[in-house]
Amino acid sequence: MEAMQPAARTPAGAGAVVVVGSINVDLTVAASPLPRPGETVVGTRFSTVLGGKGANQAVAASRSGALTTMVGAVGRDTFAALALDALRADGVDVARVEQVEGATGVAHIRVDARTGENDIVIVPEANAALTPARVEEALAATAPASPVVLLQLETPLEVTLATARTCAELGLRLVLDPAPASPLPEEVWRGVWLACPNETEAEVLTGTRVTDVRSAERAARWFLERGVRQVVVTRGGRGTVVVGPTGTTDIPAFGVTPVDTTAAGDAFTGALGAAVAAGLAWPVALRRAAAAGALATTRHGASPSLPTAAAVDTYLSGR
Ligand code: ADP
Repeated sequence: MEAMQPAARTPAGAGAVVVVGSINVDLTVAASPLPRPGETVVGTRFSTVLGGKGANQAVAASRSGALTTMVGAVGRDTFAALALDALRADGVDVARVEQVEGATGVAHIRVDARTGENDIVIVPEANAALTPARVEEALAATAPASPVVLLQLETPLEVTLATARTCAELGLRLVLDPAPASPLPEEVWRGVWLACPNETEAEVLTGTRVTDVRSAERAARWFLERGVRQVVVTRGGRGTVVVGPTGTTDIPAFGVTPVDTTAAGDAFTGALGAAVAAGLAWPVALRRAAAAGALATTRHGASPSLPTAAAVDTYLSGR
């Protein structure tokens, strides 16, 4: 991983964000063509980089200027140090990351060096050992200094339930990125302040195929009916549809030339969480998030592509 600058602060000053989620090490190989079952090929590239949607969003929030605390679990192996060092290098507080027996979570990623297509096997390992008690304790200790909590679905269902319940009890704003999408108990949605599914996730969860603004709005209503306050349906290069109590807004994507769209959603969510925590007005927060998502597509990789607040400032000041 390249050397990181300390995260620059957002214009309104630093807010604080807690991220509850997965921590992985991404093991990426590139070859072309990729081997078929039973075959061995010689590859061209190998990298070992911090990953996991939780860790990515924590890095994104920290680079966006938020004082960021990660709540998660790593194992007792060499990958644990790699993951924790990478989080620390980005200014993320890892005091609430639990170290459990066994291995750290890994994502095994194969990239076709010619077409860029990839396939991924995720082995949750330590992420599966994160407990509700750990999360409840962490949220109680960090609230109300950290009023914004980011959560994804790469940790156990009990953790999702406990996070939603605790955020509701403590009055924390829970931002749920429902990825990878899977059906959730109704109780979870009542604790969610903001849901930010992409089109595929919105379809899996709501049954509505999202192809345009109107269908995105229809899907968003599903979440609102379940108690979610705001819904942001991210549509890649087609932009973002925001649906809340005051109506629906279609925000076009910034025009960039994408080279790798990995982690665009994590960049978007991390930047949005940081902007909300910093007290920025909602339209300003959404604009910064869209810029962060767009910028992430202009660089290769997951965590290496997540932009800083300064990069977002520069990009927006030129428009
Ligand atoms: P995910 O990575 O979760 O699938 P998306 O691909 O929808 O999420 O990206 C999240 C946000 O990032 C989008 O709503 C958009 O604002 C921005 N974004 C993603 N891809 C592009 C792109 N090709 N051009 C411009 N902005 C993009």
